[in-house]
Amino acid sequence: MDYYQHFRVSPGSKLNLDKFDATCKDLHDDRKAAEEETLKLRERIRELQYQLYAERKRSVLICLQGRDAAGKDGTIRHVFRAMNPQGCRVYSFKVPSKIEAEHDYLWRHHRVTPGLGHVAIFNRSHYEEVLVVRVHNLVPKDVWKKRFDEINQFEKMLANNGTHILKFYLHIDPEEQLERFKKRLDSPAKQWKISDADYSERIYWDDYTKAYEDALTKCSTDHAPWFTIPSNRKWFRNYVVAKIMVSALESLNMSYPETSVDLAEIRRLYHEEKQKEDDS
Ligand code: AMP
Ligand code: MG
Repeated sequence: MDYYQHFRVSPGSKLNLDKFDATCKDLHDDRKAAEEETLKLRERIRELQYQLYAERKRSVLICLQGRDAAGKDGTIRHVFRAMNPQGCRVYSFKVPSKIEAEHDYLWRHHRVTPGLGHVAIFNRSHYEEVLVVRVHNLVPKDVWKKRFDEINQFEKMLANNGTHILKFYLHIDPEEQLERFKKRLDSPAKQWKISDADYSERIYWDDYTKAYEDALTKCSTDHAPWFTIPSNRKWFRNYVVAKIMVSALESLNMSYPETSVDLAEIRRLYHEEKQKEDDS
């Protein structure tokens, strides 16, 4: 099963998220097998990120979007933990600060895009500018409408300059969200995550659906595809994201850089030193 193709939003296609199955039981129902496979995929992500870092020829930008409790933090913890922190950074975008709000809306994102050899994970991203901003009328319609094109141009420019972009929308249904809110209420370790907005935002469920459908269809491009991830079951979500990551990183056909030293000479020096040690 080619998860990359299956869950990729085809450029210009239609998307009906109310009909999108957030569980996908038919596709996979063996939790243990998937969890074991995810461990192997994580090991492969680790190797591939190491090559990306060694190569220093391009970078990877991952955008994670989803409603409250969709599992953005969990995906980072369970899948992206595979990455060596030396070459990977996570940025969580909240309500813009005063200084951020004084700049254009892409400023705070552009200043932390990944350099060559590096990975950046955006936990929420510039897409909030056509999601929460649209749903709550934080700017007029004629302003946010232009942002689809602006975002496409921004991402195209990043891609032209060596950044490989992958965008994951973690899709849960309203029943699952409520279930997760309940678990947060009951768990002292999770209560801190509860915000006043969690329940009040549920009134806007359909508005967010419409906003997500537009963002995903208008901004899924060959150079920066969106993937809709069925996320009701966390183990399946992790498995699908890990599989897509491996496909994407393998498609980069990376290789270790040529050594810059004369290995034969270095070997000769080594043997000389070793001989001296052994003789003494
Ligand atoms: P959380 O991800 O739960 O920590 O919450 C972060 C909050 O910041 C969410 O409610 C987002 O909708 C909000 N947020 C993120 N980016 C923006 C933005 N550009 N404008 C307004 N609110 C934002
Ligand atoms: Mg939240």
